[in-house]
Amino acid sequence: MNIYDTHAHFAEDREKTAAILARARAAGVTRLMAVGGSPELNRAALLARSLAPDATRLALGADRDQAGDAPANEALADAVRALHAAHACAAVGEIGLDFHYAPETARGQCDLFARQLALADELALPVVIHTREADDATLGVLDEIPWHADAPRGVIHCFTGSPAFARQLLDRNFYVSISGIVTFRAAENVRESARVVPDDRLLVETDSPFLAPVPLRGNENEPAFIVHTVKFLAALRGVPAEELAARTFANALALFG
Ligand SMILES: [Zn+2]
Repeated sequence: MNIYDTHAHFAEDREKTAAILARARAAGVTRLMAVGGSPELNRAALLARSLAPDATRLALGADRDQAGDAPANEALADAVRALHAAHACAAVGEIGLDFHYAPETARGQCDLFARQLALADELALPVVIHTREADDATLGVLDEIPWHADAPRGVIHCFTGSPAFARQLLDRNFYVSISGIVTFRAAENVRESARVVPDDRLLVETDSPFLAPVPLRGNENEPAFIVHTVKFLAALRGVPAEELAARTFANALALFG
């Protein structure tokens, strides 16, 4: 099986990252997206890319935890712009909103999200979006900021929303990415959503080092573990695992290269 893990984070540890990338390759993960979001995660993503340039694509950005007031967000967006000027990236990310863990910073999060959506539009790059307990705000910001390219606008990563929210995002030209959460016993809502995403809009990811899939829960997650998510999701959708891997690989290639 050839698998594209569309969302992996790394640490600034050369030896550990090299070992993770080698295990990924051995497991059939021949391409992955190294995703930033903070200064540390952006540096670690750059390190991963330097260790496996052919197999790795880059998303650099400022996530919701970085959000501050307007001047601070402007400085962050400028820093992200500078990163994109210096490094060839496949996407801006991860960016987005989390009102579960940080509802008190909602305004700042929306502002930082909007600034980076505008940057992505300017750079004609897709976005990697995190959204949790912020469905309406996410759609609101997306609808405010123009997207001029004909190409799909990006991906909602680690999707945990309802089928209705998934449809609203599909209508806005997004892909939906399913993580190992789909294998969790209590995640019936995620399985429901994972069934309604059309073949040509489906992606898979680990979101490593978080969210190791069943039967590896409790371990630190890594791209090689995505095999379990692919098999589970294939069974859920009633297709062979090889077919789901090939389909999601082709989708990720179309979005990110
Ligand atoms: Zn992430």
